Amino acid sequence: MCICIHCAYVDRCETYHAVETQHQQPHLTATPNFTAQAPQINVNIRTTADEILMEWDVVGCNSFTQDQGRWARLRPGETVPT
Ligand code: SF4
Repeated sequence: MCICIHCAYVDRCETYHAVETQHQQPHLTATPNFTAQAPQINVNIRTTADEILMEWDVVGCNSFTQDQGRWARLRPGETVPT
């Protein structure tokens, strides 16, 4: 689980923007302007018969500022990324 979905900077953050790109998800912003300090990214690689999938999750970050449910409030009704 990516901690960013509960972070106050999720819709401004360059690192989360990169995670969205990796997951081929729509971006919360086209112009991220916040640089996270020391984000720790866990990369899981899964292989199927046809493809290799990479999942990026931010598991730690010095800039994390808790705002519980921020992603869900920004995208009401949409499935929250896991
Ligand atoms: S936890 Fe860090 S990487 Fe994730 S949105 Fe917040 S500042 Fe960005």
